[in-house]
Amino acid sequence: MNSIRSSLDQFMKNKDWRRRYEELREEVLSYPKIQTFQQEHPEVTEEAMENNMMKLFEYKRERQNCDTCPGLKNCPNMMQGYQPELYSDTGQLTVRYHPCRLKQQADEQKRQQSLIQSMHIPKEILEASFDDIEQDHASRLSASNACLKFAFEANPGEDATGLYLHGKFGVGKTYMVGAIANELMVRDISSMIVYAPDFFREMKQALSDGTVQEKMDEVKNAEVLMLDDIGAETTSAWIRDDVLGVILQYRLMQKLPTVYTSNYDYDELENHLAYSQKGGIEELKAKRIMERVKHLTVPVFVDGKNRREM
Ligand code: ADP
Ligand code: MG
Repeated sequence: MNSIRSSLDQFMKNKDWRRRYEELREEVLSYPKIQTFQQEHPEVTEEAMENNMMKLFEYKRERQNCDTCPGLKNCPNMMQGYQPELYSDTGQLTVRYHPCRLKQQADEQKRQQSLIQSMHIPKEILEASFDDIEQDHASRLSASNACLKFAFEANPGEDATGLYLHGKFGVGKTYMVGAIANELMVRDISSMIVYAPDFFREMKQALSDGTVQEKMDEVKNAEVLMLDDIGAETTSAWIRDDVLGVILQYRLMQKLPTVYTSNYDYDELENHLAYSQKGGIEELKAKRIMERVKHLTVPVFVDGKNRREM
């Protein structure tokens, strides 16, 4: 009697398990990405699919997390930032994991940051968005429109045209640069925000530890380079001609856009660049650099109140 009872239990359990399995199988096979995979890989047999149902189930669960991606920090996948991919090796079905777009961007940023110390991404800038830019002023509206247009249309490798954001201290120039960087990220275009005074200081130090070239290469090749607060530093002829000049020339050739922010307008920056620390006046060299900057940027005047005093 006892043994009949237990086999009956077993039978019921089995039935339950079967039903659940069938449900999962249905779910897995109707997942659009799995259906697309099957269409694209007719060499993967029904049998191979059936034999790998648990793998496929795992694929679906992880890939669905990506479909509703909550950001890298909140990534619920088994390996944070890794996305599964179905792969057919002559009919053998496997699931491979590779770093997702967000993870790749974050890794790249980490690598750059370890090389360029003056690369800065302040937290508030990371959160900067065009939605939060107050349109309290007519010039502010046209400034944020110009930035938005750039963020939507920038085409590194094809067009070197950037922006020159100028205006008083504290009006939100750096903030706008952050909003541009975030918008570009959505378009899968990376940008490097460098605080110019720190960067130039860092380059001078790099002379003594022999890292000038690798640092230069990194900045020269940024898809979109943002030189924040140019003109706030004391310049030297070396910085002007052999750092800034060389970077700009290279970016012009490679058609890579550069965005500047400055408290100075074009003429004031030219004046600033003409005076080197040593007191000499080199107007021609400053003019040459500024001609390049002007040619490759759209000037944007940012007006408004000083937000740092609010
Ligand atoms: P600038 O670079 O022109 O000197 P910042 O971009 O540093 O000015 O802005 C000054 C302060 O105001 C910063 O603390 C910045 O975070 C804040 N800020 C600027 N624009 C906005 C904005 N639209 N919304 C919220 N905070 C802003
Ligand atoms: Mg600033």
